[in-house]
Amino acid sequence: TAAFALALAAGAGATICYLYLSMTKRQDEEIRNGVLDLIGNTPLIRLASLSKETGCEILAKAEMLNPGGSVKDRVALQVASEALAEGRLAPGSLITEGTAGSTGVSLAMVAAALGCSCAITMPDDAAVEKANMIKAYGATVQRVRPVSIVHPDHPVNVARRTAAATPGALFADQFENEANYRAHLKTGEEIWRQTRGRVDAFVSGAGTGGTIAGVSVSLKARNPRVKVFLVDPPGSSLFNKVKRGVLYTYEEAEGKRLRNPFDTITEGIGLNRLTANFDRAVIDDAFRGTDREAVEMSQYLLRNEGLWVGSSAAMNCVGAVKAARALGPGHVVVTLLCDGGHRHLSKFHNPDYLEQMGLAPVGQGRGLGFVA
Ligand code: PMP
Repeated sequence: TAAFALALAAGAGATICYLYLSMTKRQDEEIRNGVLDLIGNTPLIRLASLSKETGCEILAKAEMLNPGGSVKDRVALQVASEALAEGRLAPGSLITEGTAGSTGVSLAMVAAALGCSCAITMPDDAAVEKANMIKAYGATVQRVRPVSIVHPDHPVNVARRTAAATPGALFADQFENEANYRAHLKTGEEIWRQTRGRVDAFVSGAGTGGTIAGVSVSLKARNPRVKVFLVDPPGSSLFNKVKRGVLYTYEEAEGKRLRNPFDTITEGIGLNRLTANFDRAVIDDAFRGTDREAVEMSQYLLRNEGLWVGSSAAMNCVGAVKAARALGPGHVVVTLLCDGGHRHLSKFHNPDYLEQMGLAPVGQGRGLGFVA
């Protein structure tokens, strides 16, 4: 009888297993509606090494798995969808944007999928891979001298003028267009669902502020006790904004030699002005992160996790460790892997470049002693 009961139980287990497998199989076999349907719903992955060393469960959204290779696909899709729905964009029209690159790649991809054209302006010190990808999608790239936002030649100002001079064109305006923040309400929803509400904290850097704003609002609406932390790279005044409630003025930032993005090798994060998107973020505390910490973290993730990520993703993981230490063991800390390493081969993942910047990694992926 005991053997029969065991066999029955095993049978039931097998049935449950079979049901489970057939369910996941069914999901995998779903037909997606083209490339745009691949955007978002990224997996949430456990970073075992960071979790073990901090005593917290450290989880990260694998945003490099978006079809355009970065978190910015979500924003490009939301900007274009809202504009299409409101009649501000039609197939065949032009989309323009000023960007360090990732948003450009995503917009170029979305434009191609929608039958629109796309013109991207980017600073000429951003990684060349991104410019080449944008061109591969059929968009035009204008590379400009890296200048501050108050200068008429700043990529954002050039893109705004191009759109204004072209009938029917849409200026995506990722910094001020709150479609950016709305795209990340969904990112927050995904995190809530994937952690089954167990998330204690979310950490990320901010470039436009869209990610941290959307995710913070979304998570705090579901549980006001969820803590949100900013990790800020060198030369950015957002740390000051969170800590003291004020952003440095342009003159103060210049005086303090806060000149992000010129003084950090992390691409896509840091800001010295208050954008409409960042302004929506609900942030509890902030950490500073250094280029050295980001470089060592990228090596750590390569050696211990086999994960090859870009500079902002590495900085986010630095932030996750700082948050884990601030909260103490036993908490669930979530961050974002904004993009993968491929598009950073000429800079962040170029040993010669790191050497030249005095940032050649030294830790060989051993331990987290490099995180201050
Ligand atoms: N990482 C990368 C690679 C980016 O391009 C950006 C956007 N500038 C960010 C992080 C920051 O995200 P957000 O703009 O939502 O603050």
